[in-house]
Amino acid sequence: MNSIQFSSLGLSLEMLKNLESLGYEQMTPIQAKSLPSILKNQDIVAKANTGSGKTAAFGLGLLAKISDLNVASQGLVLCPTRELADQVSKEIRRLARFTPNIRVLTLCGGKPFRMQAESIRNGAHIIVGTPGRVQDHIERKTLHLKHIQTFVLDEADRMLDMGFYDNIIDIIKLLPASKQTLLFSATYPNEIAEISQLIQKDPIEITVESKDDIPDITQLVLQVREHEKNDAVISLLAHYNPQSTIIFCKTKAQCDDVAIFLCEKGFHALAIHSDFEQKEREEVLLQFANRSCAILVATDVAARGLDIKDLPLVINYDLPSSPEMYVHRIGRTGRGGKSGVAVSLFAYAENFKIEGIEAFTQTTITKIEKDALMSNDAIAQPIMRTLCINGGKKNKIRPGDILGALTGEGGLTADQVGKIDIFDFHAYVAIKCEVASKVLNNLQDGKIKGRNFKMRYL
Ligand code: AMP
Repeated sequence: MNSIQFSSLGLSLEMLKNLESLGYEQMTPIQAKSLPSILKNQDIVAKANTGSGKTAAFGLGLLAKISDLNVASQGLVLCPTRELADQVSKEIRRLARFTPNIRVLTLCGGKPFRMQAESIRNGAHIIVGTPGRVQDHIERKTLHLKHIQTFVLDEADRMLDMGFYDNIIDIIKLLPASKQTLLFSATYPNEIAEISQLIQKDPIEITVESKDDIPDITQLVLQVREHEKNDAVISLLAHYNPQSTIIFCKTKAQCDDVAIFLCEKGFHALAIHSDFEQKEREEVLLQFANRSCAILVATDVAARGLDIKDLPLVINYDLPSSPEMYVHRIGRTGRGGKSGVAVSLFAYAENFKIEGIEAFTQTTITKIEKDALMSNDAIAQPIMRTLCINGGKKNKIRPGDILGALTGEGGLTADQVGKIDIFDFHAYVAIKCEVASKVLNNLQDGKIKGRNFKMRYL
């Protein structure tokens, strides 16, 4: 796959020369797999990281269809951040060097709106922007999407993490039905499959085998008696001192007991199971996902739909009901090219279950002794706190509005603000612990979009 040449794609001679001058001698794996379909106008959903050459993959697709005689915007790329949008614009401009008439415009917040509107009016064949600012231009009728032929979602998983789902859906509704949609994402959580199903036509799925795709999970088991389990969990947490941990239990009562026990010992743990109401469930999951909660104690059912990119430790307080469930549980760690550890507690009489798991997974699981674990007094505390704002989608609040208020009157820098989750009537935003009180002081009388909203920490 790797050695396929750009010349096999039917690109123009000028483009081939340009690629040569850029030093692009061979296609990268993602380009080799996706470009033939992209150039045939097919929708694709591709799992690709930064550094894979994905920008050139969709950039060449965009440029192949642009007519520089038509001044209307014909390509639209949505990116999660201003930095990425700038990078993407730069790469597309490099690819478009052979046709100086093609104009690429970046539309992100933080730049004067009027100047951007003026640039659109002067003709911008390809728009690269963040969902919030692009939507502002659409709403204020400075950007029209009637002629968009290629629509790209870049780093779609990050955009969903940042709460841009509704903006994206609103924008898509205004695009011509005949457009081609190219979706790129570093990870492939359920939401990506759902959004792909919603907005794409028979997309070709593209993944590139890389060492990042093979999970790096160290699997261990620790034999304990039932009454020693809580202490074993403490020893494991002390030994690994992870920033985030999921502990799986068999029953709801056990989840509650373990979470209470850990809190008494100074850990920040929350339980989750099916007795929780929907809102409570959402709040617990989002606090864990946004790093306001370090330990989640969950039943299998309750942890469904939870997709955490950076989870260093999974503890099975009880062995799961089947080897398949074991694989599912431990697969929560070791994602996105990171390594992870999965430790299962088991009783002497359950040795046969461990053998069953080993046979199923075709691995040998290492047995560890509790005495071999290091003690450590430092307890990893959450790095974020969750601010709950009494306003949501129905109040027309968008992630950009919250970010704007926090970095404006709130006095924060963008890197002190974490994940933003917006529901109908509430929004939640993760704030770095060390500046949490500052925000509340600064914003107590402050406004979001000119209106006052009550806010409190969960
Ligand atoms: P990206 O994953 O799109 O951020 O691209 C990573 C880097 O690879 C960028 O600096 C590109 O200019 C470069 N690049 C993209 N395609 C190729 C190629 N076929 N050969 C060499 N470099 C490339």
